[in-house]
Amino acid sequence: MYKNRIEIIKKHLDVNSQTTNNKNEVLEKELFNSIDANINVGELKLLIDSVEASKYKDAAREFIRNHPKFKENFIGLDMATYRQLVLEQCVAVANSGLIHLTDIKNNLHRYAGVVEMFSLYNNNVCTKLGVHYTLFGGTIMFLGTSRHEKYIEDANTLKTMGCFAMTEIGHGSNVRGIETTAHYDKQTKEFIIHSPTPTSEKFWIGGSYLHATYTTVFANLIIDGTNYGVHALVVPLRCPKSGAIMKGITIKDCGHKLGLNGIDNGQIRFDQVRIPRENLLNKYSDVSEDGVYKSQFNTPIKNFAATMAPFIVGRMAITKGCSGAAKTSLSIAIEFSHIRKQFGPSANNELPLITLSSQQRRLMAPLARTILFDLYIQRLTNELCQEKLPASIHAHCSGIKAVYSWFCVAALQTCREACGGQGYRSANRIAEFKNDCDIVCTYEGDNTVLMQQLAKYLLGVKQKQTNTTTNRIYLDGEDAKSLLFNFSNINQLFETREEIRLAELKQIISNSKEPAYFAFNNAIPWAVKLGFAHMTKIVFQNSINTLKLKNVKPLAHLIMLDALVSIEEDLGWFVSNHLISPNVAQSIPFLIQDLCFEVTKVSKQIIASFDIPENCKPSSKDLISDLF
Ligand SMILES: Cc1cc2nc3c(=O)[nH]c(=O)nc-3n(C[C@H](O)[C@H](O)[C@H](O)COP(=O)(O)OP(=O)(O)OC[C@H]3O[C@@H](n4cnc5c(N)ncnc54)[C@H](O)[C@@H]3O)c2cc1C
Repeated sequence: MYKNRIEIIKKHLDVNSQTTNNKNEVLEKELFNSIDANINVGELKLLIDSVEASKYKDAAREFIRNHPKFKENFIGLDMATYRQLVLEQCVAVANSGLIHLTDIKNNLHRYAGVVEMFSLYNNNVCTKLGVHYTLFGGTIMFLGTSRHEKYIEDANTLKTMGCFAMTEIGHGSNVRGIETTAHYDKQTKEFIIHSPTPTSEKFWIGGSYLHATYTTVFANLIIDGTNYGVHALVVPLRCPKSGAIMKGITIKDCGHKLGLNGIDNGQIRFDQVRIPRENLLNKYSDVSEDGVYKSQFNTPIKNFAATMAPFIVGRMAITKGCSGAAKTSLSIAIEFSHIRKQFGPSANNELPLITLSSQQRRLMAPLARTILFDLYIQRLTNELCQEKLPASIHAHCSGIKAVYSWFCVAALQTCREACGGQGYRSANRIAEFKNDCDIVCTYEGDNTVLMQQLAKYLLGVKQKQTNTTTNRIYLDGEDAKSLLFNFSNINQLFETREEIRLAELKQIISNSKEPAYFAFNNAIPWAVKLGFAHMTKIVFQNSINTLKLKNVKPLAHLIMLDALVSIEEDLGWFVSNHLISPNVAQSIPFLIQDLCFEVTKVSKQIIASFDIPENCKPSSKDLISDLF
C-alpha cells in the first residue's frame, strides 16, 4: 500500500511525462506539456483586457501614468487631505473624457474598463467614481426619464457631484424596511422628504459629508396616508452655486474607517425637506399633479423589484475594484518573490523566494483565479450590453460580486504575508488595498445576502425544469492525472456537485414544518454553499468556452490549476459523496503543485500582461531597499 502510494506520487511529480493512455482532446494535451517560457504577453494582455475594452483601458493606463494628480503620494495622509486628493483625482478623471455619465447605460465596456484601471491604482478613486457614476448616475439613467436629463451635463464633468442615499441606521440589507418618507403635498405639488425616527437617518452615504450636490434618496412614497413603497427621488443636498447645505438637511461625518478614508461617508437627516414633484425618478411609476399614483406594476413589491434592478450593473462594476486590487497586489508579491532571497542550498547561495514550493502554491493559485474571474466578468459585461438581458443576469451579478470579493480579501492577505514584513509597510501598497477592499464584501449588497438571491434563483429554475439529472461520475483509477487533466470530467464533477447541493437545499426547505421564512432561514448555510458550487461551475465553463475560441497560453494551465484548487477546497465533500476516490483525491495536491511550478515559470510574463502603470505599485527595487 505504502509502495503503491509512492508510485502514485512519483507519477504526479513529473508534469512532463506524457501518459500513454490519455485520450484527451487537443486543448487538454497541452496540460501534459511544460509551458513554453515564451508566452505571448501582448496576446495574453488582450485576452485579459477584452477586445471590447482594450482601447479604453489603454487610454486610462496612459492617463494614470501621466497625470500629476496620480503621481502624488497618498500613503499616510490625514483624512481631510486624503479626501481632497481623491476629489481632485476624480475631477481630473471626469474632465479627461475617459468616461461619460451615460456610459453606464450606453457604453458599459468603456465605463467598466476605465474603472478597473483606476482600481489598479487605488480603491478610493474608483469607489468615489463608482458612487457618482454607477449609483447616482445609474439611478438617473435607469430610473429617470427625460425630465432628469438636466442633471447629466454638470454631473459628467463633476461640476456637481451626486451620491446615493439608500442605507439607514436601522436598515441596510433589508431595503424594504427603510423608514424615510416622501409625502406628496397636492397643494404645493411637492414631495416632503423626512427622517421620522433616529433609525431612519441615512448612513454611510459616500460623498455626502463634503462633496455631493445631489443625492438620490430612497424613501417610502406616501399619498393621503397610503404607502406605495420604496421609490427614488433626487434631492439637492447643497446649493449648486454656493455649496451651502440646503434647509432642513443635517449631514454628519461617519468618521474614520478601516479603509477608504479618502471617501467622505456621511449621515444625513431630512427634516421636512421640500422638493418638486418632478424630482421623483418616474421611469416605472409617477404621481400626477393632483396626487394620483400610477405604476407600470400592479403591486408595490414588483415596483420595488424594478427599482432595484439597475443596481446589478453596479454589482458587476464593483468587482472591478477587486480585479484591480488583486492584480496589483499579486504583481507586487510576485515581483518581490522573484527578487527577495532567503535560504538556499548553501550559505553563499541563497535563492529567491519564488523558488520555494510554498510561495509558488500561495501565489499562482490566486493569480489563476483572478484571470478566470476577469474572463467571466467580460461575459457578464457582454450580457449586460444586450438589448434583452438573460433571466440569470441578476443572480450572476450578485454571485460574482460575492465570490470575487471574498476571494479578493483572502488573496490580498496571502499577498501581504508572501512579502513578509515588507508586505506590512504601507508604502508597499498591499496594506492599503487590503483595508480598502474589505468593504466590498458588504456594500452594494452584503455577500451572504447576495448568495441567497443566487440560490433562490437556482431553486426557481429547478422548479421549472423537468427531470434533468447529470450522469454521476466517479473518478477512480491508477492514472489520476489523466482522469483529472480532463475538462469534461471536471465539468461533470462541478455539474454534479451543483445538482446535489441544489437537491439538498430543496430538501432542507421542504422537510421543514416551519413557515416559509423560517424554513429558508434554517437553510441559509446550504444556500451559500450552493451559490459557491454554481459560481465555480459557470466560471469554469466560461473559461473553457474562452479557451476554445482563443487558446492563448497559458490559459489551459490556469484553468486546470483553478479547477483543481476549487476541488481541493471542497475535497472532503467530493470524496464523501463518492465522486472522487481517495486515491485520486490524494494526487490532487501534487498536481496542483506541478501546475503552480509550471505557471511560476511564466509568472513574470503574466503580470507583465496586466500592464500596470508604474505609479500603481512600488518599484521592485524599492520593495526591499528603500529603507537603506
Ligand atoms: C464604507 C461604506 C460605504 C457605503 N456606501 C454606501 C452608499 O454610498 N450608499 C448607501 O446607501 N449605502 C452605503 N453603504 C451601506 C452598505 O450598502 C450596507 O452597509 C450594506 O448594505 C449592509 O447593510 P448593514 O451594514 O446594515 O448590515 P446588516 O444588513 O445589518 O448586516 C449585518 C450582518 O448580518 C448579516 N445578515 C443580514 N441580513 C441577513 C440575511 N437575510 N441572511 C443572512 N445574513 C444576513 C449580514 O451578512 C451581515 O454579516 C456603505 C457602507 C460602508 C461600510
